[in-house]
Amino acid sequence: MSKTTAGDCCGEAGSGLLGVEEARTRMLAAVEPVGGVEQLGLRDALGRVLADDLAAPFDVPPFPNSAMDGYAVRSADCAGRQQVELRVAGSSFAGSPCDAEVRSGQAVRIMTGALLPDGADAVVMQERVRRDGERIGFDAAGVEAGLNVRYPGEDLKAGETVLRRGRRLSAADLGLLASLGLGEVRVQRRLRVAFFSTGDELRSVGQPLQRGQIYDSNRYILHGLLTQAGVEPLDMGVIADDRQAVRDAFAQAAAMADAIVTSGGVSVGEADFVKETLDEMGRVDFWKIAIKPGKPLAFGTVDGAVFFGLPGNPVSVMATFYQFARPALMKMAGADAAEPLVVRVRCADTLRKAPGRMEFQRGRLARDDNGEWVVHSTGLQGSHVLSSMSRADCFILLPAESSGVEAGEQVEVQPFSTLTNT
Ligand code: AMP
Ligand code: MG
Repeated sequence: MSKTTAGDCCGEAGSGLLGVEEARTRMLAAVEPVGGVEQLGLRDALGRVLADDLAAPFDVPPFPNSAMDGYAVRSADCAGRQQVELRVAGSSFAGSPCDAEVRSGQAVRIMTGALLPDGADAVVMQERVRRDGERIGFDAAGVEAGLNVRYPGEDLKAGETVLRRGRRLSAADLGLLASLGLGEVRVQRRLRVAFFSTGDELRSVGQPLQRGQIYDSNRYILHGLLTQAGVEPLDMGVIADDRQAVRDAFAQAAAMADAIVTSGGVSVGEADFVKETLDEMGRVDFWKIAIKPGKPLAFGTVDGAVFFGLPGNPVSVMATFYQFARPALMKMAGADAAEPLVVRVRCADTLRKAPGRMEFQRGRLARDDNGEWVVHSTGLQGSHVLSSMSRADCFILLPAESSGVEAGEQVEVQPFSTLTNT
């Protein structure tokens, strides 16, 4: 873990703030995969991180088969002819192959996925065929070797690397592994991430609110974000703004988790208090990042666990989790970090912004009257306004130097789906 100080913060010229990209790079450089592997059945491996490169043990498909319901024929019987008549000599169903060879002048009734019988090299789809008892007739135009045939190894060749370590397994991956007969896979053990909220004003859902108190949203947000990241979330509740309580919470969290994510208590005023507590237990730096929402952030190690101290406002929690904590947690979990998708679309609304910090505004993608995708602002952008976050399905990325956007201009957006998937 490299020690950084506020004096290192130089990402944004003259602002004393650390650039978003730079902050992410530093965090990623400071964490390492935790290691540890377990063997799981396929179904349980969904969303888990593959521990080994996997090679195909055999060709997929394993045998030549039909891509259509129809008739397996010899293309040589059709070459240079217009109308062809053949005798149906048998049938090949998926799972019940035809043992006989297709000889010249013969065809075999065949279904999708059924083994292509010996002698045949093309399949004529049944819609093109007239059948009269045991005889069929069809127009031979275009009936060439390979027509409607799926060849062995067309999908995967034996020995070919199918999936690489570090991949988070998708539904398609589970199917792929099943097609190779692999019922179990080795995956990285799940990262354990303890999280808690700090703040005397916070009550958990179910408790009555006194004057000046609010419900703790962040723990539910973090439960969701961590679960979607595929890690094991360990909810430690609300911790009061009390030195001993915070110290105990950190000690307990570090004893059971690889990483600790907290919210609140890192802004000016509170920072000193939390910092004091943390200074005794590890190496934690308080960063000021050129990001909105979410400028203050604490990062370091506490009793050997990696610590992410996110800001208190709920939308800041989400922005900083997605942009900083999540990529670092993914690296710790042994997962490949795919670059999140960013697309350019027209912005339907005018967006206000002051130059200085990169902004992650909340947007919603929709089609305009011409069928083009455009992004709309979801409303108030205060970092405490969760309703506009809930309505949003993407961040609108406004670079630090931007001074706002006029309606109709192009902007970059980052769909949330790209941040919750691998
Ligand atoms: P702090 O960073 O602790 O100063 O908190 C900044 C703002 O976020 C304050 O308005 C807090 O009340 C609010 N806040 C902090 N933690 C939470 C939480 N867990 N749920 C909802 N709001 C919170
Ligand atoms: Mg607080």
